[in-house]
Amino acid sequence: MMAPRLDNEFAREMEGFYVPWTGAKVPEPRLLRFNRALADELGLPSGFENREDAARLLAGMDSLEGTTPLAMVYAGHQFGQFSPQLGDGRALLIGETIDRDGRRRDLHLKGSGPTPFSRRGDGKAVLGPVLREYLIGEAMHALGIPTTRALAVVTTGETIYRDALLPGAVLTRVAASHLRVGTFEFFAACGDHARLKKLADYALRRHYPALATRDDRYLALLAAVVERQASLVAQWMLVGFVHGVMNTDNMTISGETIDYGPCAFMDRYNPETVFSSIDRQGRYAYGNQPRIAVWNLARFAESLLPLIAPDDPAKAVAPATELLDQFRSQYQRFWLAGMRAKLGLAREDEKDGALAGDMLAIMAQAGTDYTGFFRSLAGAVTGGGEAAIAALGGHGEARAWLLRWRERIAAESSAPGEIPARMNRINPLYIPRNHLVEAALDDAYSGNMETFDALLTALQSPFEARPGMEALTAPAPESCGPYRTFCGT
Ligand code: AMP
Ligand code: MG
Repeated sequence: MMAPRLDNEFAREMEGFYVPWTGAKVPEPRLLRFNRALADELGLPSGFENREDAARLLAGMDSLEGTTPLAMVYAGHQFGQFSPQLGDGRALLIGETIDRDGRRRDLHLKGSGPTPFSRRGDGKAVLGPVLREYLIGEAMHALGIPTTRALAVVTTGETIYRDALLPGAVLTRVAASHLRVGTFEFFAACGDHARLKKLADYALRRHYPALATRDDRYLALLAAVVERQASLVAQWMLVGFVHGVMNTDNMTISGETIDYGPCAFMDRYNPETVFSSIDRQGRYAYGNQPRIAVWNLARFAESLLPLIAPDDPAKAVAPATELLDQFRSQYQRFWLAGMRAKLGLAREDEKDGALAGDMLAIMAQAGTDYTGFFRSLAGAVTGGGEAAIAALGGHGEARAWLLRWRERIAAESSAPGEIPARMNRINPLYIPRNHLVEAALDDAYSGNMETFDALLTALQSPFEARPGMEALTAPAPESCGPYRTFCGT
């Protein structure tokens, strides 16, 4: 049959962590996009998307056979302030699939209507932000970065008021799980240590099974999450990604990127880059992301203290702090390994960190297009390097840096002919550049999905140059001005 086999382990085992709930009825559910490649990976039967009730199911107004849709509870620090109760205010977990590789993955709807956690929100989502999450999630996935992904987009036939009247939509999101730092903060803040323990044991079983039976498993959980987040944020930094709203409720225990709201890719290199209109202090600026990750992990660590040392949580502070202190060096290690690869370096040299740091300083001065630069650098291995020098500002300092890099490349054991291909396999040509994403969403609002589909196709194979797609590689024209993203999602 065309019914996907879903499990509901979370619903079954984790009572007290959610409320059972169903989606709102919407007037005209219509399946706008379905990610068949992802559906295959999940083992969803072919033809599922052609079921007559597919749109109703993926809008959340009908429930799939055997599922118990639910809204999860969580808390979170938003822009540094604690909100004791957030939760799925416009989302539902419909169940889990076991994918082709045996991994349990959540199927989750975003925009499916109000829940007991909606506070003053309407429980809805609108088309633009839903398509944005689809594009950017797929782009991140194709770049090899752990992320939630979009399985489907349904338009609801409703008109939703944001800053304008906009068409409503529901996103089906796939995630390794929806356990967040904020989920732990909720039960820690309630002082419900029994549930906190149950949550930690569940997270261990689901994401870190090798640690689940250790005596020191809660400290091990902290160590594992710290390391995964160090790796994740390093990968964001290496591609120029700005998450934009790194609240603790938007940080997963699995180490996947989640909640594509006001996120965007940086074009001109500048560590102070902020896109979100609500981030007035630049708390979540590009260059602050590693620091904020540690801040969030400290909130996670605090939540775990009563589990790490149940008799006297104060005794857990020193070992937890020691683990948090390791974030910086782990992050540096992940980042430098990634940056070496971007620069075409397979060997390690102790001066590589300085070589990369000096490059970034020149880029910041010159306002270099971050993504484009590494592709021009690949051309400089055997060519004259004029494009790379121009990208760095064209001055003597830029030339001197390129000479240093050339000398370093000469010390590699690979044949020079192999290096550019190796670089172009990891330095993307196509990223979701802001003006392109906006154009795709504008056209989608006028009922034309061609721009979205063309951009999605490029983003799904980001390293491979394709004829006819040259326009997708260029930075935004100056006339676009500074880019702003809005949280009216
Ligand atoms: P986010 O900024 O998407 O991470 O959401 C933060 C919190 O606000 C979560 O608890 C969401 O469920 C809730 N939320 C965001 N938008 C809405 C909405 N339109 N209606 C109800 N709750 C919302
Ligand atoms: Mg969120």
